Amino acid sequence: MGSGGLRGQKKKSDTKEDVQSPAPAAPSSKPTSEPVVLTAVGASDASSNETSTTASSSKTGIVFDERMKLHFAAKKHPERPERLDAIIDLLRAEGILDKCILCKSRSVTDNELCLAHSNKHMETVSESVQKSIDREADVYFTNDTYCNKDSATVARMSAGCLIELTERVVRGELSNGFAIIRPPGHHAEREKVMGFCLYNNVAIASLVATEKLAVHRVLVVDWDVHHGNGTQQILDAMNNVLYFSVHRHEDKKFYPGTGSIDEVGSAKGFSVNVPWAEKGYGDAEYLWAFHKVLLPIAREFDPDLVIISAGFDCAAGDPVGGMNVSVECFGKLTQLVRDTQREKKVVMALEGGYNTEVISKATLTCVKTLLGEEWKNDDCPLEDEVAPSARQTVKDVIWTQSQYWKNLKQQLVTDLRLQLELSHGSCVLLSNKGNMRSGQDQFPGLENSFACPSSG
Ligand SMILES: [Zn+2]
Repeated sequence: MGSGGLRGQKKKSDTKEDVQSPAPAAPSSKPTSEPVVLTAVGASDASSNETSTTASSSKTGIVFDERMKLHFAAKKHPERPERLDAIIDLLRAEGILDKCILCKSRSVTDNELCLAHSNKHMETVSESVQKSIDREADVYFTNDTYCNKDSATVARMSAGCLIELTERVVRGELSNGFAIIRPPGHHAEREKVMGFCLYNNVAIASLVATEKLAVHRVLVVDWDVHHGNGTQQILDAMNNVLYFSVHRHEDKKFYPGTGSIDEVGSAKGFSVNVPWAEKGYGDAEYLWAFHKVLLPIAREFDPDLVIISAGFDCAAGDPVGGMNVSVECFGKLTQLVRDTQREKKVVMALEGGYNTEVISKATLTCVKTLLGEEWKNDDCPLEDEVAPSARQTVKDVIWTQSQYWKNLKQQLVTDLRLQLELSHGSCVLLSNKGNMRSGQDQFPGLENSFACPSSG
C-alpha cells in the first residue's frame, strides 16, 4: 500500500461558466414523495449476443430514492425527475432490480459534507432554499442551476446514497454497485454550485472512503461528456485519489471550459485529463483513451476502490453532448475499469445524460456488467479506426503524464522506438543500461534518448 493523504493546500481551479448552454428538454412533472420499497437479492444469469455470463457471486448494490424526484424546475430543464423514473422502470422491467441488493437511502451528514465543501457553500444552498420557499417558486444559483424548496434535502440524499453504497462496498458487504442519484455532482466546487450540481457526490464519497474508511487509494473515472471541474478542484491536492476525466473540450469552448491536458493537479499527475478537440467521437476513441491512458495509469496506481462518475451525455442520441458512444460501450468501459484492480470494487454514480431512453439503457448495461456479464471486443481499437485528432490528443496526454507515470513513459519509449524503426529501419535506443525494458528510470529526457545511425 502506498502512502496517502494531503499534499499541499487545496486550490481553486480556473473555471469558466456557461460556455455551452444545455438543449431544451421535455417539461418536468411534479413527482410523488412515496419512498421506494426495498427488495432483494441475487446474482446475474442474464446473457446477450454480445456478452457472456460468468458464474458470478457478485453482490451488486443499487441505491435510489423516489424522493430525489422532489428536486425539479418549474420550467423545462434537461436535469429532470423523469431521468430517475426511466432508469428505474427499465431496470425493473428487465428483472435487474430483483438481481441486485437494494440499499437503504440516507442523507449525507454535515461531517461528511464538510470533507468537500465549505460551511459557506452549505449556507448558500440553504439560503437559496429559503428564497424558494419565500417566493413559492424555484430560484436559480446560475442561469442553468435551479433550486426549489426540496433541493437541499434531495442533494443531501444524493450524496448520502452514494456514500452508503461506497461504505458497503468497502466493507465487503457488496461487491460493487450503482447509485441512481440526482442532482448530479461533478461540477459542484468546494464553494460553488454550478452545472446542475449542488453538492459533489463523487468527491464527497471519495473523501469519506479515504478519510473515514481507511481506503488507501481511490481512482475516480469520469466519462461524462463535460469535465468534472468540481471533482478535480476538490481533489486537487490529494495524492491518494486519482481523478481521470475524458471529456469534450474544444480548446475550452465546451462547458465548463476546464480540463486541459496541462491541468495535472497540485499533486502532480493525480489529475489526468483527456480533452477531446472535436465532437462526434464514439466507441473507438473512448476505448483508445482507456487503453492508452487510463489503464496503464490505473495498473500503476493500483487503486483499492474505483468510483465512476457515470455521465451518459457522451452517448449517441444525447441532446447536449454531441458525442456518439454506444450503449454497449459503457459496459465495456465498466469492465475495463473493474478489471484494473484485484478486488474489483467499483461504485458507479449517475452524473449527466439527458435522453431518458439512452440513459436507462446505458445504466442497464453497466449494472449487468457489475452483475458479472462479460463483454467481448473491448480490446484497444486499431489506429486507423480512431479519429486522427483523438489520437493526437491522447498522444499529447501521454507525453504530459509520462512525467509522472512510469507505465506511460514505457509506452512512449516503445511507441517512439517502433516509429523510428519504421522510419529508419535500424534505429537503436540508447540508455544507461542499454536495456529498454528494464531501464525505464534511465530516461530522464525521452526526446534525447534516441539515436538513429541512419539519420545521423
Ligand atoms: Zn455532463
